[in-house]
Amino acid sequence: MMELCLHEALKLNDCPVCHCIKKEFDEYMKWFKIEGYKEPSVCKSIQEAGYICDRHKSILKDMGEYLNNTFDFILPIDLEAFKSPKSIKKMAKHLMCKFCLEEERIEKLSIMQLCKIVASKKGLSIYMNSSANLCKRHLILTIDQLKDSSAAEAILNKYKKRLSQTIEALEAYFNSLDYNSAEKKNKRAFQEALKLY
Ligand SMILES: [Zn+2]
Ligand SMILES: [Zn+2]
Repeated sequence: MMELCLHEALKLNDCPVCHCIKKEFDEYMKWFKIEGYKEPSVCKSIQEAGYICDRHKSILKDMGEYLNNTFDFILPIDLEAFKSPKSIKKMAKHLMCKFCLEEERIEKLSIMQLCKIVASKKGLSIYMNSSANLCKRHLILTIDQLKDSSAAEAILNKYKKRLSQTIEALEAYFNSLDYNSAEKKNKRAFQEALKLY
């Protein structure tokens, strides 16, 4: 599943890991909206993780009254668990959003799978010749996981090449602001910079 997603992502001008996180998390949310919302083990994991972040709250709001089922399960457990300030203090150490945790799980899986792909000569050459390029976060996390040093070197060089091109595009933009300049303004250089981040 993840392998397929990554191979598809390598055809796009985007970070393949970001692409797969988005795609697989959308699938997870589709499943959550159909049956996960009332699944006791899922409700329990939301309660145990601790809270729901603003970004995921706004996604969940679209679900409407189905969420009554989820909270009907969760809130009495909280009421039971909130016995005293002392019992709450223990919770402070492991406070997470269940949906962020799910994204993290997918992220780890995608990076593991990407490392497997680029560890083979054929896979590395597909990555190197594709328009895909890792974002900074996923470049760092992938290189941290990669055991093959020549693959790590190649991936880093691809990133640095895009970095230099973007620096040039930014320079060209600022040069074009000079009223004497005949150069066409490239207002979109920041979009390439955002992709690198
Ligand atoms: Zn990324
Ligand atoms: Zn979250």
